Amino acid sequence: MSEKACPVCHIVTSGNACPKCKTTGLSDDFSGIVIIFDPANSAIARAMNIAEKGRYALKVR
Ligand SMILES: [Zn+2]
Repeated sequence: MSEKACPVCHIVTSGNACPKCKTTGLSDDFSGIVIIFDPANSAIARAMNIAEKGRYALKVR
């Protein structure tokens, strides 16, 4: 099972479309997965403009 990352909001998913912004042009060329548990208290979440917990890619190409 290959995972892909959304180039818009950086969510990592195994589906064919982003569960958040519905983008279908997901990329399998990404690096640096971060797991956000508590977006309100996460500096990474703030820096990446993430409002929901989940798994995100730092870089999506
Ligand atoms: Zn997205």
